[in-house]
Amino acid sequence: MGQTPDNPSSPATLRPRTQLVHGGTRRSGFEETSEALFLTSGFIYGSAEEAEAAFVNDGSRFVYSRFRNPTVAMLEERLAGYEGFARCIATASGMAAVNLAVMGLLKAGDRVVAPHALFGSCLYIIKDLAPRYGIQCTLVEGTDLKQWEEALSTPATVVFLESPSNPTMQVVDVAAVADLAHKAGARVVVDNVFATPVLQRPKDMGADVVVYSATKHIDGQGRCLGGAVLCDDEVAALISPVLRHTGPSMSPFNAWVLLKGLETLELRVNAQAASALALAQFLESHPAVETVLYPGLPSHPQHELAMRQMKAGGTLVTFDVKGGKAAAFRLLNALKIIKISNNLGDAKSLITHNATTTHQRLTDEEKAKVGISPGTLRFSVGLEDADDLRDDLAAGLAAAAG
Ligand SMILES: *Cc1c(COP(=O)(O)O)cnc(C)c1O
Repeated sequence: MGQTPDNPSSPATLRPRTQLVHGGTRRSGFEETSEALFLTSGFIYGSAEEAEAAFVNDGSRFVYSRFRNPTVAMLEERLAGYEGFARCIATASGMAAVNLAVMGLLKAGDRVVAPHALFGSCLYIIKDLAPRYGIQCTLVEGTDLKQWEEALSTPATVVFLESPSNPTMQVVDVAAVADLAHKAGARVVVDNVFATPVLQRPKDMGADVVVYSATKHIDGQGRCLGGAVLCDDEVAALISPVLRHTGPSMSPFNAWVLLKGLETLELRVNAQAASALALAQFLESHPAVETVLYPGLPSHPQHELAMRQMKAGGTLVTFDVKGGKAAAFRLLNALKIIKISNNLGDAKSLITHNATTTHQRLTDEEKAKVGISPGTLRFSVGLEDADDLRDDLAAGLAAAAG
């Protein structure tokens, strides 16, 4: 669809924040203000000839919502415009996006390189699933450029990384790794969930593909699952057929919810990141806290690199409470406002004891390797008044020390 007053989606004419509100909008004949929800699985044709033409002229009109849907297309155009990518492919969940981007680019005999410190399901795709199909995998210490250099001294096809990593906040030098990856012939796929599209632009640092769990900050209000792959036309040509024929497509309803989420994304993420910094400082000064990992604090081992790559430290704070699992559980059970949950990026503040939930299936050795100890808590800062959150944490920490 061309650019018209009702479709002001050209990235060249809109600043990023305006993109989040207007990008990709396609109005139906009713001139509705809000984006229309096209809750339809299929589309009809005025004649047999029209149906025939629709299947020949692939892509020019909507045929079936597993392939494309108008509401999903609005979300895709809005997100692509915001991040300056040619293409966005929406998926049913964040993991569907990771799987599509990684497995869609790989074939038997290829090699994928990634850090150990990855979200559990991402690690499963790289370390367990890919090798089943004859794909070699090399895992490195993500913060050690020497290990990246060695791993990428031989040809590779895909480099996959998260920065900061979930939940241990390891920061990868994206530009340096992208440079090494490109010399090795690999495309770089960055899972940008923790940093969010507001605070970090992996594309500007050389990433070829960016993936999101839209479930997190893009929805940001805990309602639905979704994912997105941002890429150029060449990558889209490789992975679009995989989506079309294997079916991890986003529901139009979820796309509609996520479109509304995008409208407030910058406001929410900036407010949550400001509270996160204040609360990270509070936690760091508290005697019941062993360590705080927050990229926005000077105490973070890669603070300078993080601040070069990100506009702020993010909305998540990982900290270790003194006294291990028992103290961590006392803390969680004393909280009134901050909810115990394994989700993140929500308007509601959420806290997770990773060792017993998200990373339960790892051995103690593996947990130690990715930096998760019995006292580790991942705190996703929401939109509540930061003073209420501080008081809630203070009560929890008093119970932990109890
Ligand atoms: C949550 C998450 C995912 C997976 O997203 P889903 O929408 O839950 O499938 C992938 N990567 C990171 C870093 C995440 O936090």
